Amino acid sequence: MTLRSRLALAFLLVVMLPLVVGTVLLHRGVPAAVQDRQARGLVSAAQLVGRLVQSTCGQASAAAGAAARAATPGATPAQVQAVADQLVRDGLADGVRLRDARGGVVASSGELPDVVADCTSPPLPAEPLLGARLGLRTAQGAPSGTVEVVLQLDRLLPALQEGSDGGDVAVLSPDGRTPLAATHRVPRTLALAALSDPGHAVTRDGAVAVASRTGPLPVVVAEPLADVPLLVPVALGVLLGAALLAALLAVQLARATTRPLEELGVAAGRIASGDLTTTIPVRGSDEVARLAEAFNGMALDLRTYVGALQAGRDELQAGLSRLGATLSGTHDLDRILAVVLETAMASTRARAGMVLLLSPGRDELVLAVARGLDLPPDLRLPVGSGVSGRVASSGEPLHGRTGDGPGRLRQGPGEPAARSVVSVPFTSGGTVLGVLDLYDRVDADEFDANDLASVRTFASQATVAVDNVLLHQDVQRMAVTDGLTGLGNFRHYTVTMTREAERAARFGRPLALLLLDLDRFKAVNDTHGHQRGDAVLVEVAARVRDEVRDVDTVARYGGEEIAVVLPETDREGACNAAARICEAVRRRPFGEPGEVPLTVTVSAGVAVFPEHGTTPASLLRAADTALYDAKGAGRDTWRLARPPVGGPH
Ligand code: GH3
Ligand code: MG
Ligand code: MG
Repeated sequence: MTLRSRLALAFLLVVMLPLVVGTVLLHRGVPAAVQDRQARGLVSAAQLVGRLVQSTCGQASAAAGAAARAATPGATPAQVQAVADQLVRDGLADGVRLRDARGGVVASSGELPDVVADCTSPPLPAEPLLGARLGLRTAQGAPSGTVEVVLQLDRLLPALQEGSDGGDVAVLSPDGRTPLAATHRVPRTLALAALSDPGHAVTRDGAVAVASRTGPLPVVVAEPLADVPLLVPVALGVLLGAALLAALLAVQLARATTRPLEELGVAAGRIASGDLTTTIPVRGSDEVARLAEAFNGMALDLRTYVGALQAGRDELQAGLSRLGATLSGTHDLDRILAVVLETAMASTRARAGMVLLLSPGRDELVLAVARGLDLPPDLRLPVGSGVSGRVASSGEPLHGRTGDGPGRLRQGPGEPAARSVVSVPFTSGGTVLGVLDLYDRVDADEFDANDLASVRTFASQATVAVDNVLLHQDVQRMAVTDGLTGLGNFRHYTVTMTREAERAARFGRPLALLLLDLDRFKAVNDTHGHQRGDAVLVEVAARVRDEVRDVDTVARYGGEEIAVVLPETDREGACNAAARICEAVRRRPFGEPGEVPLTVTVSAGVAVFPEHGTTPASLLRAADTALYDAKGAGRDTWRLARPPVGGPH
């Protein structure tokens, strides 16, 4: 059953129930009230009719009195007769008769029974008339005759009916069994029933009657029971009409009530299918309107939320692809760590963050990269204390609010001030390499477990990056390093020399090349063994390295020959360097304590760009020739190259 039909039904019930109840009450109550009113009317009518009969009796007595006054002792029978006739004519009596003391009729007018009973002294005979008897007396008080007057009950009927307000009236014999005069036939059983309880309405066979014994004869006033034949169809009609109206109203009301809900349902469906721009019209200010408002607000929040989510996802995707590109495209550790940090910050909406790497001594964390923080570039944090330090020492991540209270993360000196932090180590093979820290979420009070999970993911990316970079650095170093002396190898020399020669040529900068060769080294090997020779070679390499600048390149050219590339160095500087190197080798004997000290010397050839050559090959040739010259000059010395024949090339 739909909500609309339920509402319509409920409304119909609410309206119809009182209507039906009202109709039933009306149906039962109205006839009762009508009949009650009818009964009360009949009671007063019966009393009135009773009194009318009584007053008729009084009228008969009055007429008898009038006749008696005319029958004075001196009056002639003719005079008395005239009075009697007058009374009948005037309608004050239907019959008047005077008798003398012996019972002889003196005068008589109208019709009278032989014996007239006086209506004031019941019981009366069952006659359709009311009579009055009055005794006449002489002046001395002796009986002198009788006056008799009668009034026909039939003549009273119009007046009685008028008194009964139109009801049927019956004047009955004293025992109630014989109707003496009646406007209409009043059923005998009804009359008897009414007489058994005078003054009260009695209903029988569709008629109602009230009896009165006020007068000399009992009277009954009766009427057909008042019915209300129109009430039932009218009530049914009203009920049907009301039902139709109510049904119509119910449908309208249910439609009006459910329409906003249907709209709400449709809108919710559209939102569920992805159309977040859906809104519903707000009408009025009722509960449904408030619901619509709340719905629109919710849809807006959802839009904002999804927008933010999409933006976050896009940002994350961009970050991830940048991270992927950076990881695969570069071995620049700082750049990779910066991208890892930025991506981790974007994914967690962190305000700031930094990456620290463990120092070679593993006792300090050294700042590698920071974002959103104002930190000294040489920041170092001790391992074991502070948030990052504890994470580095334990290898376990921490996240939460900062502060001194219970459950708070206590920060160490030097750590950036923040409300909340997530700090995750990155480890390789169980060894902590560094720590990734993020500070303060832009859109929340603190970092949650999701943030921790994503930062751990990024930290593992950092691990891969650091591992890769370290491996790459190792491989690279090994590729250009001489295994024995730790100097650059021949390849390294070639690459460096080529690059520096190009730079010198392009920018017109000075460049020098020294070529060194140990003097009579074969003898060292032959006398002290190859191993000792190797050790000497290593020591010579170290001494040469110490005599030149960091920007200079010292490479083992081959065997016991060493090449030194001196960028930004002119002839004078190169000669000085050669002299210093010869001096450094010569100055102290070689050998560990307990070994035979060996005096080793070195010869050097010096070639300078561009006067001795403009290419790596020509410079090398010039330096080699100069070295040869130095050997020729007795060794343990250096020689500057001779200008090439035909100028530098
Ligand atoms: P000089 O250069 O003064 O003319 O005499 P020299 O004895 O040094 O002659 P040369 O330069 O021709 O000799 C090269 C010797 O250096 C040959 C070899 O015994 C030695 N040598 C070359 N490479 C190594 C090395 O890696 N280890 C050791 N122990 N000896 C080496
Ligand atoms: Mg040699
Ligand atoms: Mg040599």
